[in-house]
Amino acid sequence: MVLPLLTAAHRRFIIIALIAVLCVFYFMSMGPEDYYSSAKSLSTGQSKDSTSVEQTSDTPLLLGSAPAQSKPSPSFGNITPHDVSSPRRANATLVMLARNSDLDGVISSVEQLEAKFNRKFKYPWVFLNDQPFSSEFKRRVSVLTDADVSFGLIPHEMWVQPDWIDEGRAQAGRNMLVKEGVIYGGSVSYRNMCRFNSGFFFRHELLTPYKWYWRVEPDVRFYCDLDYDPFVFMEDHDKVYGFTISMPEWAPTIISLWSIVQEFISEFPQYVSPDNAMDFISDDAGDSFNMCHFWSNFEIADMDFWRGEAYTKFFDYLENAGGFYYERWGDAPVHSIAAALFARKDQLHFFKDIGYKHAEFAHCPQGKQWREGHCSCNPNDNFDFAQSSCLRNFMRLDDWMFG
Ligand code: GDP
Ligand code: MN
Repeated sequence: MVLPLLTAAHRRFIIIALIAVLCVFYFMSMGPEDYYSSAKSLSTGQSKDSTSVEQTSDTPLLLGSAPAQSKPSPSFGNITPHDVSSPRRANATLVMLARNSDLDGVISSVEQLEAKFNRKFKYPWVFLNDQPFSSEFKRRVSVLTDADVSFGLIPHEMWVQPDWIDEGRAQAGRNMLVKEGVIYGGSVSYRNMCRFNSGFFFRHELLTPYKWYWRVEPDVRFYCDLDYDPFVFMEDHDKVYGFTISMPEWAPTIISLWSIVQEFISEFPQYVSPDNAMDFISDDAGDSFNMCHFWSNFEIADMDFWRGEAYTKFFDYLENAGGFYYERWGDAPVHSIAAALFARKDQLHFFKDIGYKHAEFAHCPQGKQWREGHCSCNPNDNFDFAQSSCLRNFMRLDDWMFG
């Protein structure tokens, strides 16, 4: 036996070293679930019952300060985003704009996203409404998750048609779209919603603490298990905007949008990224808009991009043109054009492993991702390469990137 020959100090050192080695092995053997649940127990500064309109969670600060921001690695090639062992969290939230009358659809969407993803990751939820949420809404939604939930009222000026809009001209614009049978053509509230989603949601006080968001809508479907953290993935690969479905916009809703965008570009060329994705939104190097946009009812994206100088100027420019009300500019083309022009094309990410359906259009992962995600969608019910899908345009941006 060697041990008795050692001094007491040596023995103490060996015992401490052994304990340290055992601790390292213990933490290495913890799964990401264990880590996330212990992170949660550290971060629950408040009860999820406190769901008043004024509630500002203190969790975001904790979340924001927790991960040491690693330098993003450039993303090239066909990235496999399975970082299940990553213990890091992003400064992120799930966000849904909804009316009290959307309750059933809200519950359905939240229930699915919780089961497929957030039960493990426990990112907070923020619900926004132009009317106060009813206590029934708050009660029925809060019960669905252990994560923090906040319910916010949208300030009047972020929502309603501004006074300086010429209502006569706006009415004429609505009448024209109604006559042409365009969906929501006559709706002012739809226009409020599109303008809010274009230029204001990321400035709402419940969202300002966060950098990343995942936009969720009532009545959508999430088909597959998501075992990694898409926010951390976005952060690590220097991404700005993530989508699942892309398609062309109804031309009559954005008659003057592209000419305003062209004016903006010639006035502020410094905001256009040298490595932009113009080829996604234009088939003639910018002469015309091909109507392609990312379908914004699903977005995983960086709010700091919307808060940045380029997009702030861009939104103000569009706002001054009045097209949110004189026409019916959607937040989808507005976000998509900005992401395509002001970010690098490799900062746009197709979440091909996230099975998703909104209205009648679905993205269903294929092959290995369908199997590994235990996806409940029919792989043939997939809009990816349908006639009117814009995914081909996106793929064309850089063939070698997507393999
Ligand atoms: P679509 O996806 O373009 O058909 O439009 P939706 O009717 O689904 O609306 C998009 C999102 O905005 C959904 O999350 C709706 O719940 C929300 N929304 C639409 N109109 C209003 C509104 O007037 N008030 C509130 N609070 N939310 C709205
Ligand atoms: Mn919708």
